Amino acid sequence: MANIKRPNGTEDILPSASRDWQMLEGLLREIAGKFGFREIRVPTFEQTDLFCRSVGETTDVVQKEMYTVSAKESTFTLRPEGTAGTIRAMLQNGLLNEALPQRVYYILSCFRHERPQAGRLREFHQFGVEMAGSASASADAEVISLAKQIIDMVGIQGIELYINSIGCPTCRKAYHKALQDYFAASKEQLCDTCLSRLEKNPMRILDCKSPVCGEIAKDAPVILDYLCEECSTHFEQLQKYLTLLHIDYKINPKIVRGLDYYTKTVFEFVTTDIGAQGTVCGGGRYDGLIGQLGGPETPALGFGMGLERLLLTLRNQGIKLSEEEACDIYFVPMGEQAAEKTFAMAAKLRSEGVSAQTDVMGRSLRAQMKYADKINARFTLVLGDNEIAAGTAEVKNMKTGEKTSLALDDTFAERFSDVLMASMFDEDGSFANLLG
Ligand code: ATP
Ligand code: MG
Repeated sequence: MANIKRPNGTEDILPSASRDWQMLEGLLREIAGKFGFREIRVPTFEQTDLFCRSVGETTDVVQKEMYTVSAKESTFTLRPEGTAGTIRAMLQNGLLNEALPQRVYYILSCFRHERPQAGRLREFHQFGVEMAGSASASADAEVISLAKQIIDMVGIQGIELYINSIGCPTCRKAYHKALQDYFAASKEQLCDTCLSRLEKNPMRILDCKSPVCGEIAKDAPVILDYLCEECSTHFEQLQKYLTLLHIDYKINPKIVRGLDYYTKTVFEFVTTDIGAQGTVCGGGRYDGLIGQLGGPETPALGFGMGLERLLLTLRNQGIKLSEEEACDIYFVPMGEQAAEKTFAMAAKLRSEGVSAQTDVMGRSLRAQMKYADKINARFTLVLGDNEIAAGTAEVKNMKTGEKTSLALDDTFAERFSDVLMASMFDEDGSFANLLG
């Protein structure tokens, strides 16, 4: 039988890569925390209806991309994004009855049945934030600045911020009419999906990935010309706050986002470094969503950041988040008695907070030294009959070749820690090596 392979569009995150993920996740948590966002963890699957009602019946996500699974008599959908489940959880657990604004963040996997390609997967990961309770444009600017700080901290270059306002139900009425009139002229050329959108949700046509629809949409009316006074003031205020934070942006009236729940502000951070799938982060305001899901009318907003795309951009720009993993000391026992002794010594060191390993393969001296090299051992200690008899052994600094003789008694862990610490100071006295 052929070996079983992972499903198309999924990825294995191997030990050689997981360290970058951990570093990134640590950074995300730290920055989110600074902005007052606290972590929420929600189920991987939800009732299908939750996504239909929030993401929207006429979106690509609901129409084409959802993984809906049935087990026994129930049907559920693997979350295609994080906002719906997060808002559902906030409502169900009464978070909106507590002090507002509520600020939450999450790091989770999402599932969408799309055509897999670089930066487009069927299972991918998002870092997202949601803030509920504030209608002020300062909240929009704050959330955008959070995303910006992440991008700056990881060191990505050349990302552009695009902002737009897609208005509220009031201004959208006139805009929908204008779009319907515009697209009616080219009705015959629209794809089937867009044809059905023409009646129900013509704005979705602007988000269609088909080149023909894209070409037709090129000269479509732009929403910014149809904003009501409230939405237009809000958009101006957003720009004022962004300027206050020295955040560069470009107004891009083409951005409508792929999810139906957005109102007023929408934004994207886009890079050209990873090809067509350049949107690393997308988000906006969704003032109607909480009411739509049965909660009290509450203005809210958030964003989702695609972590695979972020890491891909980092890789393409030659930015490494993490140093290579290292082991503080590798014990090289020669013989049975020595193996027992190093086995205990390694355990003792680990309990003291030192990373230590010893041979578990019964290998030769040469093979063990090769392995020590592979795992980036900072120090090695060869233990044979002579060392056991003498009660001392040498720890060897693998980088400098320097050897230090240490007694093999109760003081070993402490003495070795001193040697290790000393080795981590660079010549200039800085502590740089510790990062490894
Ligand atoms: P796109 O236009 O690229 O399809 P989207 O509008 O569907 O993106 P959102 O639903 O806003 O994306 O999700 C937020 C972020 O999640 C995106 O900006 C992107 O970084 C990431 N993302 C979305 N879909 C995928 C996917 N299939 N694979 C990897 N990352 C994705
Ligand atoms: Mg999409």
